[in-house]
Amino acid sequence: MAKKLNIDPWGTSNLEEEDYARLIQEFGISEITESLRQKMLKNRFIRRKIIFGHRDMNLVFKAMEAGQPWAVMSGIKPSGPFHLGTSTTALEIVEFQKMGGKVFYGIADVESWEDNGIPWEEAEETMVDNIADILAFGLDPSPEKAYIWRQSKEPIVKDVCFKVSRLVTQNMLNAIYGERTFGLYLSSLIQVADIILPQILDGPQPTVVPVGIDQDPHIRLTRDLTRRNYKDFFLPGATYHYLLSGIDGSDKMAKRNPNSYFTFNEPFKSIEKKIKGTLTGGRRNLEEQRQLGGEPQKCMVYKILMYHFEEDDEKLADDFEMCVKGELMCGDHKKECIEKVLAFIENHQKKKEKLIDKAKTLLKIE
Ligand code: SF4
Repeated sequence: MAKKLNIDPWGTSNLEEEDYARLIQEFGISEITESLRQKMLKNRFIRRKIIFGHRDMNLVFKAMEAGQPWAVMSGIKPSGPFHLGTSTTALEIVEFQKMGGKVFYGIADVESWEDNGIPWEEAEETMVDNIADILAFGLDPSPEKAYIWRQSKEPIVKDVCFKVSRLVTQNMLNAIYGERTFGLYLSSLIQVADIILPQILDGPQPTVVPVGIDQDPHIRLTRDLTRRNYKDFFLPGATYHYLLSGIDGSDKMAKRNPNSYFTFNEPFKSIEKKIKGTLTGGRRNLEEQRQLGGEPQKCMVYKILMYHFEEDDEKLADDFEMCVKGELMCGDHKKECIEKVLAFIENHQKKKEKLIDKAKTLLKIE
């Protein structure tokens, strides 16, 4: 019997490499074709095939070619510092902004209350930290290029939530999310409003929402409610990246499991220790590694470098080949990875320190 695929935006999803093809089929996701990829080579995540699927990216690309406006929407639940998994989406929106999209970035503080029990005021320190991170990643916050809001303080998203709710039944939400608290259902409707917000503020235009595949239920709900409530709007599109598994071998980098990731605020010693212990695609000993070669496609060291810390595509390709041929040893590669990660984070923290006040201003926090 085929495995039941569990896609849970608030929990752990049970996906393995081979499940993604089935997801593409079952949920009507379009693959990134080679011709679309070629048109979007500027985007590191598309170029490196970390983004594997999309909905309506062709519309975004058309707008791009015609010089018409398009938006890129994302957000963060302020329940902890950015880590390797959560920062992927933040880096993706910076890439899309560089391609000409206006960024809309929502702070999901309603969701951090509903999912994690963090009161809005207590989430403020974390949201300032998260915004300083994304500014340090290179987000341009000028008003014509970006709009940042807090769910709890943005009246428009609450209005949209009330409006679309009229067409939502408990059965619908149950079918998409399973049995959940009313608060989580509510936060999913607030997210619908977040995703529609660019078109409410700036008029109908293609929108891309870069997400991990586990967030697809929100995208499907949003497209359904947009179709039924906002006839002249574009259905919000999406790109989907592969979920990073935990560096400790667990299914997913989850804030609930600190050994599964490292954050951009963590002491260097702790990051070093976690990378030293991370799961690789290496063999049992050096001799086997030389004879059989490693499996970089299964290796977290390789993925850490590919997602975030290796700028040079050619170096990545060379390392892949050397690993497969048994010419690269895991100990040496881990050492190199640690050096790259620590150098990046040291530089990132210096940039970030200077951006805390800017983040407070953007969030209207004293
Ligand atoms: S050599 Fe590098 S890429 Fe290959 S399995 Fe070891 S750590 Fe991973």
